[in-house]
Formats: sequence, C-alpha cells, structure tokens
Amino acid sequence: MGLLSEGSPLSWEETKKLADHVRKHGVIQFINLYKRLRDRQGDILKWGDEVEYIMVKFDHENKTAKVSLRASEVLNTLNQKEKDDPTGVKSLWRPEYAAYMIEGTPGKPYGGMLAHFNVVEANMKYRREEAQQLMKKNEVVMTLTNFPRLGAPGFTDPPTKPTPHEGASRSLFFPDDAIYDGHPRFATLTRNIRERRGSKVAINLPIYRDKNTPQPFVEDLNQYGGDAQSASAALPDHVYMDAMGFGMGCCCLQLTFQACNIDEARRLYDQLTPLCPIMLALTAAAPVFRGLVTDVDARWNVISGSVDCRTEEERGLKPLKDNKFVIPKSRYDSISSYLSPLGEKLNDIPVLHDGAIYQQLRDAGIDHLLAQHVAHLFIRDTVSLFSEKVHQDDEEDTDHFENIQSTNWQTMRFKPPPPNSPIGWRVEFRPCEVQITDFENAAIVCFVVLLTRVILSYQLNFLIPISLVDENMKRAQKNGAVTKEKFWFRKNITTCVSPPAATSCCKISDDCTFYTQFTIDEIINGKAGEFPGLVPLINSYLSGMDVDADTHCTVQQYLKLIQRRASGELLTTAGWVRDFVRAHPDYRQDSVVSERINYDLLWRIHGIQTGEVQCPELLGTNAQSKTREDIPSAMRKDFPGASCSE
Ligand code: ADP
Ligand code: MG
Ligand code: MG
Repeated sequence: MGLLSEGSPLSWEETKKLADHVRKHGVIQFINLYKRLRDRQGDILKWGDEVEYIMVKFDHENKTAKVSLRASEVLNTLNQKEKDDPTGVKSLWRPEYAAYMIEGTPGKPYGGMLAHFNVVEANMKYRREEAQQLMKKNEVVMTLTNFPRLGAPGFTDPPTKPTPHEGASRSLFFPDDAIYDGHPRFATLTRNIRERRGSKVAINLPIYRDKNTPQPFVEDLNQYGGDAQSASAALPDHVYMDAMGFGMGCCCLQLTFQACNIDEARRLYDQLTPLCPIMLALTAAAPVFRGLVTDVDARWNVISGSVDCRTEEERGLKPLKDNKFVIPKSRYDSISSYLSPLGEKLNDIPVLHDGAIYQQLRDAGIDHLLAQHVAHLFIRDTVSLFSEKVHQDDEEDTDHFENIQSTNWQTMRFKPPPPNSPIGWRVEFRPCEVQITDFENAAIVCFVVLLTRVILSYQLNFLIPISLVDENMKRAQKNGAVTKEKFWFRKNITTCVSPPAATSCCKISDDCTFYTQFTIDEIINGKAGEFPGLVPLINSYLSGMDVDADTHCTVQQYLKLIQRRASGELLTTAGWVRDFVRAHPDYRQDSVVSERINYDLLWRIHGIQTGEVQCPELLGTNAQSKTREDIPSAMRKDFPGASCSE
C-alpha cells in the first residue's frame, strides 16, 4: 500500500503540527530529484504486476468461511526466503492493510519481450502455490476483490470483536484486530484519517433492491453499538460502512510500467487515464459488502470513502476557517489532470493546488503541467509520520515526497525514479479489480501491457476531457455496467502515423476529433465504420511482428477472454457472484448473503480457481492456457515500442 518507514509512529497531534514541515521538505526533495533525473534517457520497457490475496479459513462442518488473520505469520516465512536470496527469488511478498491480506509481485520485473506474456500466468501460479503451502488445514489463499461478509458478525478467524468506543477504527463492524499488525503504518493511518476528518469515515452503497428487501431498508445499528453519529451517517436504502478496512481491505490488481524517459512516462500516464473506468467496469468483481448485495459492481467508491480524511470544511459542509481549500475529491480517487502537452486543453476540472508550492516548483524550472500535478498532490496533509523520519537530508532522501505521493491513491500514479537506483520513470495503472483465477489476472495484465505498446507504437490518442473520465468512473461501478452502460470515449484515436485500421487521418490536435459514447463491447471489439476496437488494434500490431507459436496462442486466449467479457458473452466476476447468490437455495430475495451462502460461494470460487469446477459462464471453455516458467532463448526477441527507438 505504499511506503513502509521504520520506527515509531507519531500521534495525530504531533503529525498535524509537522504537516507543513513534510510538505516543505517534500517539495524540495521533489525538485532535487527532478533536477537530477529529468534528463534520464534510454530506460527500456519493464513492467510488473501486483496481486493482492486474502486468506480464507473454511469450516466444512459448520459450513462457514472466515478471513484468516495470519498475514504477519505467513509473511515472516515468505520474506525470509527473500532475505536469504534477494535476487534469486521468483516472487516478492509485502504486507497489505488487513491482517488477512498479502501482496505478491514477481521477483523481477518483466521486460520488453513478447515471450514474457508466456510467463506471467506461470509466475502468478507459482506465487499462489508458494503462499498456499503455508496455509493450515482448511485454509486457502484466494484472489477475491472483497470478502462478501467482511464486517458481518463473526467474519474473522480467530474470532474478534469490533471496538466502537476505542482504538484506531472505532467501527461498529470492522475490528482493529483485522488490521495488519506487523507494521504500525496501517493502524496509524486508520486513526489519523479518522482524527483528521473529525469523525469516522462514512461509506454508503445503494442496496440491491430484491423482492423481499425491506422498503425502506434501514438497519438497526444499536445492535452493533451504534450511536447518534452512526444513525445520522447511515443512509436509508444503503449499506453503511464506517471503517478504512472496508475499502483498504479489498484486493486489486495493479500494473507498473517503466518508460524510456520522463516524457514517455507522462504520455503513458495520460493515455491510460481514459482506460481506467473502462478497465474498472470490465474487471468489476465486488457486488457484495458486509453480507449484503448492493447495486454496485466494484470496490472503487468504497475504497475512496474509506480513506476520505477531508474535514467538514474541506467537504464544503462548513465555511472555511481552519482549512485552506474545499476539496472535491478524496485522496483515493480518479486523477484530476493530465500531464502531457496533448492533455493540457482537456484538463477541464479545477486542479486544486497550493499557489506557493506551484510557484516554488515553477521557479525551479518545472513546467506548468508537472508543477500543477505535484502542487495538487501536496494539498494533502501527511497522515502517517514516523519520529525517525522527521529530519531528512533533502539532497539525498525522498521520504517526505514519498509520504505525500504514496497516500494519494489515484487511478494512475506517476512514479519518479527512486534515489540511487537503476529504475527509471514509471507509471502505475491502478483501477483493476482482482479476478478469481490466475488465467483471468494474466489476461488483464497482458491486455493492458499490449495496449501500452500499441499506444506508443501507433501514437494513439485516447484523451477525452477529464470531466468525462470522472463521469465514466461513476458509470463503471454500476450494477451490470459492462453491458448496460455507455462510456465517453474518443471517436478518432488515430494520428497520421497510425495503422491501417485508421479510417481517416487526424493530426494530433483537437480540431478534427470528437467524443462519443460507446459500449464497452464497442470500445474493446470495435464498431463498424466508427471505431476500430482495442483488441483489433492489438491484433493489427501483433500481425506485424514475429510472434512464436506458443506466445501467439497464449495471447490469443487472453484477448478472447477480454473480448467475450466485453461483449457480455461471459460474465464479469461481479455478475457471476450476483447470479450465484440469487440462485442459492438459502437466498430469501432479501439482499442478505448468509453464512451458508458465503461459504458455498467461496468454496465454489476455490473450486473454479483450482480448476476442479468448470465455470463456463465466467471463463468459457478451455480457459487454462499453456504457460511456461522460463523463456527458451529462441523466443527471446524484443518487441518494438519497447524502447525509445520508435
Ligand atoms: P507499489 O506498491 O509502490 O505500487 P510495488 O513495489 O509493490 O509498488 O510494485 C511495483 C511493481 O513494479 C512490481 O510489479 C514490480 O515487478 C514492478 N517493477 C519493479 N521494477 C520495475 C521497473 N524498473 N519498471 C517497471 N516496473 C517495475
Ligand atoms: Mg505494492
Ligand atoms: Mg501498487
């Protein structure tokens, strides 16, 4: 989830007093870093995925499934391997917010070889098996965006109790014991976000209204120890959640790309931005929260609300007195501005920023768009500070910059090179929800990586006004969005250097373009005479390349999955979970996911993941692709667009 500093966390009062100190030095650190690294050239494409896992404990006798709070124990063992052989391991493991979560990445990033698409899934399988080996009897590692009964009574193993009147979360539902305890960062963030905000976070998702769902749907929160605050925070006809764990306890699938230089990174950052809502809808996997079926398909608004540290003044509920700005978005949200010259005219929402910081960055020779971006990140206060890290050498350290950067959890992240490292300018793609199987996760990863190559090689332009990307983010989360919603998209994405699929040539300028609304099917698969489709574009790119038979076969299976999800021929995970619950014999058409339904659902998911249970609705048939762990030397060919040479 970001920077893990060593040492003792400061209280919120102490942290608050140091907010300006962190900002001041963070900006200086960024300026120094920028001066050192802005001209860095020639980095090659490298990329890697991050997969988050939950650990689930089944009780087959009582037919229950609970989250297992053993992450720190498991990580101790996983991390020992890395300590013993830092460069030789095939996987890296990191803690995540919850005590039932772990995050795994490949041991080394992948590179610019097409054949690497053949090893992604194998590495994901390896990671899963590696973690699974450390599970106890009836304990299973799963890739599921949200544990359906998270926050419902008795959802943890061992049993724990929420503490509404004390501790970090003070939640009616989510116990502090379910927060990862191997590092103080997570509980500290939880406490400080709540204290900064001045109240608990409040997340309300519309309930899915079924035949027997009470109307209005109003829960008796007193049974959980609720008070006046929760009574007013909980909206009728909504599923109410009151803790950081409801969002940060969800799992996602992220991707990081290295660009050849800062300009290419800025271009990729922008071009991937309009794809965030599209990929969110396509990967939607979270329709059930706190044991209740909701009318949304994805986690995004939950996680956004779960770390919303804005005060009442900042949320515009009270006139500004102690705070500087009314801030329209949570620190976990979609990005507010493009970074490349092409995007400048499409930055049509206010990019709140501190004028003095902006000026300081400009005076240091940083251009308007980048200065605005950094000054925008720096409207936030630090919400987690460690005593040992307060005083730093701004020439060398970047911790204060990273502190603010890593607690701006946006759809895209622009990552400068770390100090003293061979790593270049990178961008991170953060909207996707994690899927049940390694096959699906690998398919999404390879699809997005290929898209970046197509964007760079064909110099495609996907940019639409940022306000429309925000509108798409809202639509992407709705129940059934993947087939029911239309999304704003650029109609003419091609430029003069683009491929044969181009219907007409458009110079990179705004004059000859316009935006329209497409279904995801049209965006992915194309619309005759109007839009080539992302998968056809990828295929056109691949057809010009020497692809070995194995890689070709793997990639085609992945692209097929994406295409069939987009067309609605296959269900999204969210759609499938919804159908499973509604068809369960115990389901009473009242939106409630009981212990038994939860157990059967998770056990089925486990079966699908291992391949013991076929699930054609989700995967089609023959979903297991042939992947390899190593790439034979005969297949080691770079693919174009993998370096600055184009
Ligand atoms: P964060 O949590 O800050 O997003 P992680 O360290 O968890 O970052 O994950 C970084 C991802 O970037 C991993 O998938 C890793 O394989 C990948 N990666 C590592 N080095 C590079 C690089 N030089 N270029 C691109 N990706 C990289
Ligand atoms: Mg990570
Ligand atoms: Mg990440």
